[in-house]
Amino acid sequence: MTTGLRIIFLGPPGAGKGTQAQRLANKWQIPHISTGEILRQAIAANTPLGQQAKQYVDKGELVPDELLADLIRDRLSQTDAQQGWLLDGFPRTLNQAKFLDKLLTEDLNQIYDYVVNLEVPDEVLVERLLGRGRKDDTEATIRRRLQVYREQTAALIDYYRHHANFQSIDGNRPPETVTESLQQAIGA
Ligand code: AMP
Repeated sequence: MTTGLRIIFLGPPGAGKGTQAQRLANKWQIPHISTGEILRQAIAANTPLGQQAKQYVDKGELVPDELLADLIRDRLSQTDAQQGWLLDGFPRTLNQAKFLDKLLTEDLNQIYDYVVNLEVPDEVLVERLLGRGRKDDTEATIRRRLQVYREQTAALIDYYRHHANFQSIDGNRPPETVTESLQQAIGA
């Protein structure tokens, strides 16, 4: 088992972040933390967080940074996250990235080891998302989520390229091949 690995997954919706993070989380026995999944569960359970997030998630908009800040602080403070984690879907804005840096260094005394960016062409993303059948995977929200990614999230690539051990991986290949590339990139 590899412990202490902390990896941030970047990439547009449909790039395979969730699939790859889950595979590696199983392999390494560290938590796969998907903010989208946590929000979907909160919405299903109709918690206060879910009630506040639902209107945004349904439309493919980003949930406000303040809600995500509380969510990620709580999740990364839990016991199972002290041995490492794979972050999928957070951060999604520059503001969130700066919040995460501060949280890790000032409160949690942790550093991330790698930032991996999964690259997949737009036309493949749309095809994949349409085939996934999640509730927020209608054609209109898919188009909106890709636009939101370009407008608000893609800039993180430049943020992390200069800040961390950054790797870009071709995500337009079979899942097993992508997993192998990720493991090579991470040296695990
Ligand atoms: P995902 O499962 O990562 O595709 O996320 C699904 C939806 O959850 C997104 O379209 C957003 O509405 C919301 N969401 C997930 N993560 C974040 C985040 N870091 N910041 C804002 N909204 C988020």
